Amino acid sequence: MRLRRTAIFIIVLLLLTLVPTTAFADTPSSWAKDGVSRAIVTGLVPASLQSRYTQPATRAEFCTLAVTLYESLKGEITGRTTFTDTNDVNVQKAAAVGIVNGVGNGRFDPNAKLTREQAATMLTRLADTVGQPLPLSAAAFADNAAIASWAREAVGQMQASGIMSGVGNGNFAPKGDYTREQSILTAMRTYITVKGGKPDSLYSGKYHGALQGSAKIMDGKTLLISIFVSADGSALSDYQINVVRDKLDIAKNFIESEGKKYGKAIDLICDYNKYPDLRYDMEFTGEFFILPENAVAGGLTAEQRLVSDRTDEILHRFIENTIPYLALADKYQTDSIGYLVHLNYKDSYQNYATVYDAEFKIVNWYHERAVSFLRASQVPSTLAHEILHVFGAVDLYAPYAYRGVSQALADYAKYNYPDEIMVGGWSYDASGEFVYDGIPKEISRITAYCLGWLDDIPELTMFPELRREHPAVFTDQTKIPVT
Ligand SMILES: [Zn+2]
Repeated sequence: MRLRRTAIFIIVLLLLTLVPTTAFADTPSSWAKDGVSRAIVTGLVPASLQSRYTQPATRAEFCTLAVTLYESLKGEITGRTTFTDTNDVNVQKAAAVGIVNGVGNGRFDPNAKLTREQAATMLTRLADTVGQPLPLSAAAFADNAAIASWAREAVGQMQASGIMSGVGNGNFAPKGDYTREQSILTAMRTYITVKGGKPDSLYSGKYHGALQGSAKIMDGKTLLISIFVSADGSALSDYQINVVRDKLDIAKNFIESEGKKYGKAIDLICDYNKYPDLRYDMEFTGEFFILPENAVAGGLTAEQRLVSDRTDEILHRFIENTIPYLALADKYQTDSIGYLVHLNYKDSYQNYATVYDAEFKIVNWYHERAVSFLRASQVPSTLAHEILHVFGAVDLYAPYAYRGVSQALADYAKYNYPDEIMVGGWSYDASGEFVYDGIPKEISRITAYCLGWLDDIPELTMFPELRREHPAVFTDQTKIPVT
């Protein structure tokens, strides 16, 4: 567990340093990552805009985004309004339905940078044209006077609907640039708004809250859904599936009884024999690849990384398309759901499990899950350790800066809480043998804080880097974009 995580972290760093330096990033800014991923998954981002995310968007590019959004709601636009300075079909379509006008004299000025007030106007018109006009409200920005008269109403509507906000200091910066990633986020929020949702549901939605993911605070009922993957001989036998169930039961009892110490009445619902709708079997065809053993030895090749990302995406889509998680959430009366992927993988000679998160993957999905390999070293405590990751616990055995764990904190945790389950995932008895029938571990107040069980702990004074705005998050993705 430790070796792999360290190795993977190093690989990520290496990959980052190998990326050629370009003026504009091909991955979204950290604060935009979740929203952009969601927009891509929703089908709102044309391929031509899935790069150079920090580059200011042009008027024509914004048309492409607006048309994609419009057509996803209303079907293909057949009309065309032409301009003398562009043949861009998306500009022609956007003008035909009234989302944009030209700049006069039959011109559109397609390559000019989009301004923030233009973006506001186009999105407001888009909402009008799909029959979901945004409520009128006067703009209230310190630089109101700088907003063009033709854009003032739209800026007010954007502000009131929460689709666009200011740039800080109470200003809107109407003539400022609007980057591709900002454009994508606002398109996504417009989409949610015209479909009747609250735009902030992108970040804190009941089931798709990016900041907490699908696995929120373990308190009361919490679902843990098991997915048994059959890929290239990785399937578990019925006997093995029952063995894992028994280990899971021990993990459940451990987590519930540790939770009690912090006043939490947790009901971790994970017994797939008792509740068959918590078990899913997935037949995986094609190359299957999850953080393979040579990640330890020498790192991933670009090709392996691609397959690994693809594997992860397929797993995500399986959850998205096959598991009725919304119905399950309603049935079991909880909005906190985690997933555990089980494999008996022939090429994984070393047992390990990992939780996927934005740091390891190009795309951050919204369903939080851990992967567990059935091996002799899979003991109930390794399952509990990974389950806790899914619900926000961080490894305390080594420094992970982006999770708020410094070397000093790791040392402190090891010294003060040697039996803490995030300090060590495996459990051994006095003779050094794996313990299969229980979990001789504890959940310290450090992990309790990460899980959202405690709001404040003395360690926060000593290690302020551990503090996070949102509980139960694996990484501290706390930045709400200012658009
Ligand atoms: Zn771990």
